Formats: sequence, structure tokens, C-alpha cells
Amino acid sequence: MDNKDNSKKIFVTRTYLPPYEEYVEAIKPLWDSCWITNMGMYHKRLESELAAYLDVPELSLMVNGHMALEMTLQAFDFPEGSEIITTPFTFISTTHAIVRNHLQPVFCDVKKCDGTIDETKIEDLITEKTVAILPVHVYGNVCNVEEIQKIADKYSLKVIYDAAHAFGVKYKGNGIGSYGDASVFSFHATKVFNTIEGGAVALSDHRLYERLYNLKNFGIRGEELVVSIGANAKMNEFSAIMGLCNLKYMDSVIQKRKKCWDMYVNALDGMHEISFFKDNIVVRKNYAYFPILTETMKCRDKLYNCLRGQNIYSRKYFFPLTSDQACFKNKYKIVELPVARSLAEKVLVLPLFSDMERSDVSRVINTIQEIIV
Ligand SMILES: *Cc1c(COP(=O)(O)O)cnc(C)c1O
Repeated sequence: MDNKDNSKKIFVTRTYLPPYEEYVEAIKPLWDSCWITNMGMYHKRLESELAAYLDVPELSLMVNGHMALEMTLQAFDFPEGSEIITTPFTFISTTHAIVRNHLQPVFCDVKKCDGTIDETKIEDLITEKTVAILPVHVYGNVCNVEEIQKIADKYSLKVIYDAAHAFGVKYKGNGIGSYGDASVFSFHATKVFNTIEGGAVALSDHRLYERLYNLKNFGIRGEELVVSIGANAKMNEFSAIMGLCNLKYMDSVIQKRKKCWDMYVNALDGMHEISFFKDNIVVRKNYAYFPILTETMKCRDKLYNCLRGQNIYSRKYFFPLTSDQACFKNKYKIVELPVARSLAEKVLVLPLFSDMERSDVSRVINTIQEIIV
């Protein structure tokens, strides 16, 4: 290949922004009302538009996905030291949210086929202290929601999904956030849908909505009335407007992501040393990430380093496992995690975002093909 220009940096993701004029036009009314936070009209509008888009009964907006996770766990008011069965193959936020609520994470292994929690290994981990299961729809891959619900029902456990990667994903035609007792979304700048920073809890029990409302707004229910102890985790109006502007483009954003995804699959499928997670045919995907699996850690690290050398910034999501991070290592119940450990060593997430140019996808593909010969 001649005239190869590898100086342009390709990052793993790139924030989606609406047309500049649209956002500027949309925020103008704020200069008249001067109502820029405290559950203003755009907060309300985004809550209802998003509930419809995500196909969930109700939604509570939050300042970010992490606080949404923390507040949700707090809203259930579990006894201190209770055990939460969760996955170590996730972003550190999932585990932090458990521990910061004075609860104990019990790490369960994941499945090789899609990286989600291995539902066949959950029951063995249940003790009299277990109160909830906190699985992650990692990369937008859907957990076995039916089996997980069966186990939860059998043992009277709550199910809280970390759906940070699963914006717009549908399972058997239903919004992914309609499963379990609550599902937490992240609207961080790097996610498929963003409100700059932001997040939301999808739920079906309105009492949970009320508890989250108190938790995110100091428990204030009147000028002189505070009904419960709460923090501040509400979304502001600039973020809500960013969400309203971005939401209009989400179908096309996901379609554009699919085009890059398809290019990757067509070029890399069947390639020596590389495999993918299994497709679930009853899932409407959001193409949030393009993770590949290599045969060995050595191969993964070589790919990562060589790509970097060519200004292509892939990421080792999720390595190391959260249970292996310095802050958690050897602190909690030891469970064998062979599959999770193996995935963490072999996974690499390639650059994928809606405005990624076809020529850049080709450059990533060609570079990979040159590295793995
Ligand atoms: C991004 C993310 C979060 C945290 O969301 P923020 O909006 O960044 O606070 C939680 N869990 C997972 C799996 C994530 O990827």
C-alpha cells in the first residue's frame, strides 16, 4: 500500500454531537427562564421521550450512570454487608457502586459466548446474606434475563441490571430496560447516546421512582419539608437538552455504527487468531462496541501495541477484572473465575463510532491483517 498516511489518530470512540446550531437554538429559552436545573421542563420532557424510545415503563434521570447505580442500590435499602452477586467483567463503576453502598460483591463467572454473567453459576453463590443480582449487559450483549429472573424469584432477590452499554437494545421486541427491578443506563460522552454526563434508571415500580427522586434531590418535597436523607444527583437542563437533540439522531447513529460493524465482521470473520462473541438473533443490537477475541494474551497485547504504533487506539475492555484491581484484590469472597479471566486476557475493543469514516475502518482492518500474518 503506497501513500499510506497513518498520522491521523483513530481513537476507540468519539463523542456524538448534534448539529451545533440545533443545540444553540435549543438552549436559547434557558436565557429567558433562567431555570437551568432542578427538574425543569427539559428534564421532564427527556424523561418521557426516553422512556418511550427505550420502551420502558418509567425512567428517572440522573447526573451520571455511576450515581444512577449507587442511588438504585441505595433505594433498595439492603442491610449493611449484604451480598450482591455480580460480574467482574465490567467497568469498575459496577463494583464501586456496590462497595460504596457498604454491600459485598460476590463475583460470578461469565459466559465465553457473550461475556455476560453465567446464570448457571449464580445459584451456588447464593447465601442467606444474598439480596440481589447485579448483572451487566456487557458491550450491549444481553444477559439471560429469563433464567436470572427465575433464580431471583425462587430466592426472593432483586435484579438490578447495569445497562450502561445497552442503550436502545431490544430483546424479543422489548426494551432491555424493562427486565429486572431496575436497569441503569449511562449517558456519558463516550456512550452510544450522551447527555454530556448523565444517566437514568429504568423501572416499573413507581415507588422506586419516588425513592430515587428523594435520593437525587436531598429528600426535598416542599419549601420547608425534607422527607428523607438524600444526595444531589439530578440532571441539569443543558444536559437534558443535549439529550433531546441527540435522541432525534439515535436511529441513524445506530445505523451508521452498524455499517462499521459490518465492515469489521466481513473483513475479520474467519481470520486466523481472531474470533467474536456470539450473535443473539432475538436481540436488536446497538453496535456500541466491537470487541474481538484473540487466541492468546500475547497475541492481544501485540495487536494492541502494534495498533498503537500506527496511531490506532484500541482498548483492553475489560482488563483487568474489577475483582483483580488493586482496591478490591483479596478483599472479597474468592470464587474461581476462569472464563472471565480468560476473556479479560484476550479481548480487545476496536475503534467504532457513528461518524467513523469507511477509510478509517479499512485502515484498522488492514493494519490488523498486517500484524497477524
Ligand atoms: C460507563 C459505565 C458506567 C458508569 O457510567 P457513567 O455515566 O460514566 O458514570 C457504569 N457501568 C458500565 C458498565 C459503564 O460502561
